[in-house]
Amino acid sequence: MGLTSSLRFRRRTNKTFLRIFMILVLSCIPGRTNLCSNHSVSTPIDLPPSNPSDIRSSLDSLDLEGYVSFDDVHNAAKDFGNIYHYRPLAILHPRSVSDISSMMRHIVHLGSTSNLTVAARGHGHSLQGQALTHQGVVINMESLRSHDIRIYKGQQPYVDVSGGELWINILRESLKYGLSPKSWTDYLHLTVGGTLSNAGISGQAFKHGPQINNVYQLEVVTGKGDVVTCSEKRNSELFYSVLGGLGQFGIITRARISLGPAPHMVKWIRVLYSEFSAFSKDQEHLISKENAFDYLEGFVIFNRTDLLNNWRSSFSPNDSTQASQFKSDGKTLYCLEVTKYFNPEEANSMDQETEKLLSELHYIPSTLFSSEVPYIEFLDRVHIAEIKLRAKGLWEVPHPWLNLMVPKSSIFEFATGVFNNIVTSNNNGPILIYPVNQSKWNKHTSLITPNEDIFYLVAFLSSAVPNSSRENGLEYLLKQNQRVINFCEVKKLNVKQYLPHYETQQEWKSHFGNRWETFAKRKYAYDPLAILAPGQRIFQKATQLSPIQPL
Ligand code: FAD
Repeated sequence: MGLTSSLRFRRRTNKTFLRIFMILVLSCIPGRTNLCSNHSVSTPIDLPPSNPSDIRSSLDSLDLEGYVSFDDVHNAAKDFGNIYHYRPLAILHPRSVSDISSMMRHIVHLGSTSNLTVAARGHGHSLQGQALTHQGVVINMESLRSHDIRIYKGQQPYVDVSGGELWINILRESLKYGLSPKSWTDYLHLTVGGTLSNAGISGQAFKHGPQINNVYQLEVVTGKGDVVTCSEKRNSELFYSVLGGLGQFGIITRARISLGPAPHMVKWIRVLYSEFSAFSKDQEHLISKENAFDYLEGFVIFNRTDLLNNWRSSFSPNDSTQASQFKSDGKTLYCLEVTKYFNPEEANSMDQETEKLLSELHYIPSTLFSSEVPYIEFLDRVHIAEIKLRAKGLWEVPHPWLNLMVPKSSIFEFATGVFNNIVTSNNNGPILIYPVNQSKWNKHTSLITPNEDIFYLVAFLSSAVPNSSRENGLEYLLKQNQRVINFCEVKKLNVKQYLPHYETQQEWKSHFGNRWETFAKRKYAYDPLAILAPGQRIFQKATQLSPIQPL
């Protein structure tokens, strides 16, 4: 290295040091959400470009395998919820992990002189803007996937996939080897990174835990741009932070997911109850048994006429004569939905086991409906509804969903108060309700759950009619959700939100309870500038001009 270049190098190193120092100082502004405070803020000198057009050209000039686009950003400005809309400045379409790392490092390098934040976008199926960023960079995780799904057979089979891979593709590929992930969401057109940032809960979770409990290893790009492989044994703090971590600590670029043998067929059963207490007692009985059903959910039905006849297209009744005499008119009913997995040669023994399990339950006898479908058809069931809704233009409407986790000790009071007085119709969408058994769940992840072994997942999955000011409109449904939340607070039911959404940091602190300090400490360790996942509205990036903004 010649003298001039050596001087240039030293000058550059000094500048880099100064920038990192400034970043650290600015990220510790009092009132910002990290644990660092009481530092003074001095005026930075010789910092990177803060002018928006300079920032844009600096992003444009990054040396990447993929590319950055500044046009066509409108799709990344919304999500499935279709309630929040924030336009990003740019979209990174990464072709490699190093593209993501370079982008993160570049934004760290720009430091607090820019407002840039980064939102990893899986399939954009968040409900309240969690995958959005206002004038920041969206990372289109689906560009990374490149159909690189690697299955490993053996005693503990697993699949290695990109964080942007869709679960449906993983299912299709693993089925070729007679294998399958064990824990699912109800809908499979979601990405691995998106569901692992939350939990991934469905009717298998009482048995296998949520999806975040079925991961052996992750590759993560942290908020500092470091690429880290982590697992239970290696960099375990990052591993557990990221699982259920709402995208706050790093971007999941690869995941190693546990697999088990895949069945060919599913016996799919629905039975009805008119009493909530009998319904929930049976649900709890079934999840406490070893080797009972493989999937268990439930839903509430208000005021439906001709309900069973509607089911007949896909489910056959156990006793047609009795079923035709059953009148659902006007009653509030609770439907227990269970499945048993089987291979054709095991059909007889499966039938016997199923009958025995059903004989222990207290449903209305004439309402036993069942059907047998291929495993993939059962798992991908919501996609069929999606196709129908899309055809009618009803998929891209606002979705004011509310997902709650209600402790077992509160579920009766919750059901009585909410289903009698607050939500008394499901004209706007299904209402799911089913218990899970936390003893099988890993307690080290970032997911916050109620403090009881058994809790219920209650999901109000409403679709709003655009521009309606009536009971099917967005405003009404949002108010209804708020009434449910208020009821839980007033009655002190110790409910936690799943896929949480809050407006203030005080609410986030109360969501996390005594785990808030750890969560904030980890944020500071892995994403000190609070660049990642701004759409969750937990932390705010420090900026020189407006250091503290209320959330
Ligand atoms: P996005 O919406 O794209 O992202 C979600 C969050 O994760 C954002 O904060 C984003 O920044 C972050 N993120 C995305 N990718 C990554 C990554 N690679 N690394 C780090 N952070 C990342 N959930 C359940 O648990 N069970 C269900 O049964 C279920 N059913 C659903 C059915 C439908 C029709 C829909 C729309 C949603 C459902 N969900 C369910 C919720 C769903 O799991 C979450 O909304 C999930 O985040 C969506 O995944 P996505 O790939 O679209 O993520």
